[in-house]
Amino acid sequence: MRFQRVAVIDWSAAARPKRGRDSVWLGLASDAGVSAENPPTRAGAEARLHALVADTLAAGERLLIGADFAFGFPTGFAGAVTGAARALAVWDWLAARVTDTAGNRSNYRQVAATLNRLFPGDGPFWGNGERLDTPDLPRLKPALPPGLAEHRATDIAGREGGARPKPVWQLAGAGAVGAQVLTGLPVLQRLRAAFGGKVSVWPFEGAEAPVVLAEVYPSLLSAEVRAMCAAHPGLTPDEAQVRLLATAFATLSARGQLGDLFRAATAAEVLAEEGWILGAGHGMALRAALPATQDPPRLRDDCFAMPQGVQWVPVDEALARLRGALVPVTGVDELPVSRALGRVLARDAVARRSNPPQANSAVDGYGFAHAATGSGPQRLPLVNGRAAAGQPFDGVVPPGAAIRILTGAILPEGVDCVVLEEDCATDGAAVVFDGPVKPRANTRRAGEDVVAGAVALTAGHRLRAPDLALLSALGIDRVTACRPLRVGVLSTGDEIVSQPGAPVLPHQIYDANRPMLLGLAAGWGYEPVDLGHVRDDPRRIAAALDRGATRADVILTSGGASAGDEDHVSHLLRTQGTLSSWRIAMKPGRPLALALWRGVPVIGLPGNPVAALVCALIFGRPALSLLAGGSWQEARGFSVPAAFSKTKKAGRREYLRARLDEAGRAEVFASEGSGRISGLSWAEGLVELPDAAMDIRPGTLVRFLPYDSFGVI
Ligand code: AMP
Ligand code: MG
Repeated sequence: MRFQRVAVIDWSAAARPKRGRDSVWLGLASDAGVSAENPPTRAGAEARLHALVADTLAAGERLLIGADFAFGFPTGFAGAVTGAARALAVWDWLAARVTDTAGNRSNYRQVAATLNRLFPGDGPFWGNGERLDTPDLPRLKPALPPGLAEHRATDIAGREGGARPKPVWQLAGAGAVGAQVLTGLPVLQRLRAAFGGKVSVWPFEGAEAPVVLAEVYPSLLSAEVRAMCAAHPGLTPDEAQVRLLATAFATLSARGQLGDLFRAATAAEVLAEEGWILGAGHGMALRAALPATQDPPRLRDDCFAMPQGVQWVPVDEALARLRGALVPVTGVDELPVSRALGRVLARDAVARRSNPPQANSAVDGYGFAHAATGSGPQRLPLVNGRAAAGQPFDGVVPPGAAIRILTGAILPEGVDCVVLEEDCATDGAAVVFDGPVKPRANTRRAGEDVVAGAVALTAGHRLRAPDLALLSALGIDRVTACRPLRVGVLSTGDEIVSQPGAPVLPHQIYDANRPMLLGLAAGWGYEPVDLGHVRDDPRRIAAALDRGATRADVILTSGGASAGDEDHVSHLLRTQGTLSSWRIAMKPGRPLALALWRGVPVIGLPGNPVAALVCALIFGRPALSLLAGGSWQEARGFSVPAAFSKTKKAGRREYLRARLDEAGRAEVFASEGSGRISGLSWAEGLVELPDAAMDIRPGTLVRFLPYDSFGVI
């Protein structure tokens, strides 16, 4: 059950044009992303639905339209009103009587009163929000006529997670749905009528038509709607619910899991009269289909905790822990592919079109039917005309004949094989070549690269220039991507002067780390946020972190991260944040301070520029990638002979500033002193020495990790 497009309608019976809360909302989800529309009137919404159906049919796609009002009435109603116990008979009946103006004035109350007159007693319909009385429409709930139930079977099945569908009989009051039913069904009935057999209504007519209408119930996602509204102040719940529900159906459809929802749990005759909520009883499946990145999740307070008693953590274990602790923290937005370079996909990008869309020729040459050729010299008369890219030949090439064909031209009818022009001779009347030719030679099959509907790029993938070619070729014009990660960078230390070149006292040094870390963040495709420098004063550091937590999604600090007297950052994070100091068995690098400050992750790097760089490359880069919605990143190194000697002790991993000499051997910076900043620029990468002991002589193979492989620019 695959629908390339899903539309979810939140209907409204408002008496005048209206936008925002309690007006008509339309959520649209397709492989290209999610959007919402807010037509001010029912007539506007109806026109939009007609356009949507026409557009879908023209594109040869399928559309699921979910509407949030009852498609049927409790058993007994349809038969009493129309003589037939079928919901669609009621649709006809209502469409013939309910009127609506372009200004949103509907006569649904009068129609409800007419219906009431068909039943003994005062009901079943009741409720009137207008000052003016409508005769035969009671304001208060009357006794139900004998034989009519308050609820449908599906309203009861839809009671999940606290959701309570209201009875269709109630036309006014908080949460009432009856007026939506009476104003909405005629709109859907006209949609059916306009598109003949192309639009079917489930569960009354099956779900195989190109466009399927189904009743949906947004309250199944009420927890997610609340969370989304809390995360996006100003968003109306109506918009949130159509977006979320459309997303959930579209995702289940893309995963091939929608079929289950189209199985209703009740008897056929009840279904035909009452209908069924698509997803009733499957609330969890719908909720589970929502992308984890829709609302940025918060990191758990204890996400960086190390088990008690761990003294020194090997690098690989520290990396594995980071990998397990971090989740994407940025929100998601939808944008055109033309603006998406460097962005991380939050949802799979699914091909809207096959590549190639049609079978075509891979070369310039002559096309013909393979079956009519054999071995030895072949002479095939040429048909008039030719096939070129963008200029298809619309005739038929008979068996035994050939046609001039150019690269990229769609194979005309009768052609399944092409011979290269260099392998033929022609006198203008016929083409001659040596057989046999391989079947389908020099042709490209439709969809041989990617078929429509296939996942072209998966969520988590960062878009690079070549990906733009792929997405564009597949007709994907919009993607849902993670918002760029905002990386705050803060330097600490009484000795630091933040302004390059500013007057300095003998005991002061210029801030080297902040420009470096901001540069790394920018080079990795993130949004660098300069949080400046603060002195070693807990109150100032706290204020800077407060500012950082509102402006950035993650904060990198440098300096003060160890456990000594002057290590104010770790002290502050320990007392006011949720610090975990990881003593990592590596050189250079003292403890890595990991914490949450007001829910925002803080990565406390060593103050030493050499150690700060190494820690940022080894730990910071993969951590930021996960926070940004991307995949875990490991630098790709390679083995080269050493051009140096060194005896390395067991028990810690070492990173040396290194570059390749003319012979391709790794030479290392003369001094391992971690204050030697010039070594960072001298180097073109790092040599990584394993945790175990190692005796290195010239020629011993060592692992070289070029700066490039860390994305350093
Ligand atoms: P700390 O981690 O604060 O103990 O600092 C270790 C060393 O790194 C000290 O020599 C600091 O002066 C130096 N340092 C700290 N922050 C910076 C910085 N932003 N730029 C250059 N050096 C720094
Ligand atoms: Mg310091």
